[in-house]
Amino acid sequence: MFDLKLEQLKTLALYIHIPFCATKCVYCDFNTYAGIEHLIDSYLNALKLEIKLWGTKLNRPKLSTIFFGGGTPSYLNLGQITGLIESMSQTFHVESNIEITVEANPEDISNEKLYEYQRAGINRLSIGIQTLDDRLLKVLGRRHDAQSALNAVEKTINFGFENASIDLMYGLPGQSLEDWDATLKTALSLGLPHLSIYCLGLEKGTPMTQLVELGELTEPDPDLAAEMYELTVERLDELKYRHYEISNWAKPGFESQHNINYWKNQFFLGLGPGAHSYLPGVRFSNIKSPREYILRMENNSNEITTSKNLKDANQVIEQMENISGTTEILDTLMMGLRLDTGISESEYFIRFGHTLDEKWNITIIDAISDGLIRWETDKKADTPNRYLQLTPKGKILSNEVLARFFTVAKN
Ligand code: SF4
Repeated sequence: MFDLKLEQLKTLALYIHIPFCATKCVYCDFNTYAGIEHLIDSYLNALKLEIKLWGTKLNRPKLSTIFFGGGTPSYLNLGQITGLIESMSQTFHVESNIEITVEANPEDISNEKLYEYQRAGINRLSIGIQTLDDRLLKVLGRRHDAQSALNAVEKTINFGFENASIDLMYGLPGQSLEDWDATLKTALSLGLPHLSIYCLGLEKGTPMTQLVELGELTEPDPDLAAEMYELTVERLDELKYRHYEISNWAKPGFESQHNINYWKNQFFLGLGPGAHSYLPGVRFSNIKSPREYILRMENNSNEITTSKNLKDANQVIEQMENISGTTEILDTLMMGLRLDTGISESEYFIRFGHTLDEKWNITIIDAISDGLIRWETDKKADTPNRYLQLTPKGKILSNEVLARFFTVAKN
């Protein structure tokens, strides 16, 4: 049983999961599928039912951002994303200027789709490029080559999408530092306002991990990957990008508002199979199978949306966890320290009613003396405020820093 504290819900970030891809990349362990296109229409109908259910249950909350992720949202046909946005506008409060992002793959980007996105109010495109090396694109099982990726980005910019981002990955099997530098240089020559750059993770059960285990692909070297990260930091710093989160860089004003919401541990609602949500006092996630999601959504009764038990109100919810005060504090620290601004001392106090020093004094002192974190003071603000931030060394060892706070909280 759970009583949602709706008065705490001032605004909400909305995530929409699109679990379809034309083909499955060999490294990918996201909840997405190739070859189930016949489910798309019934899936979109189910998604509209979930949009309506939550908009009603939460009393038409105001959305701060909308993010279509996946999977490949750009794989949907013309008009399908517009249809989802129209449904949202009916049951959520959607202001005209909020950030609306669509994740897109290069091969889907056409003038027709860009036109549709602009008319629907989509103002941010996040394009999955991963690398600009044709040999490595084949290793990853991507469908595009480097030139078509560059053409897609150019088309997006020329169409007037000022706020476009690309995703890149380093630490790939058989990738040298020189290979990575070449991709980085070409990507940076595009002059984009935002880049998300991740180290490849070998996820359990993916074809790529199996190939590495069988010795058919070279296992990426973590020391080389660390050098690639350092090179990335250096190159983007030279071009005055703000390294606002461990894996994200932006020109001022182009930071992803949707992701900042996550890193500040604020509320969000995720719709679709496998999507996660965080509402006041509770985290939950939906069933992963798209087929089962469609069936359960069709069987949800409209009358039970008033139920206080969330799982009764929405039968696609698979897992649910009540969030204690301690968990909320730890989550706020773990995610907030990923941001370059770190954790605002005054925001922390307003949210939790105690200062960072009161609760974490010894942990903070030790981590500062080990060169992992630091206090920065914003002297320009009307009321000077301090921020607890990771140092460059702390960014590399961020897991260790977070483990220290975790250990104290659990004792
Ligand atoms: S396109 Fe993206 S979501 Fe789809 S399989 Fe490839 S990496 Fe995964």
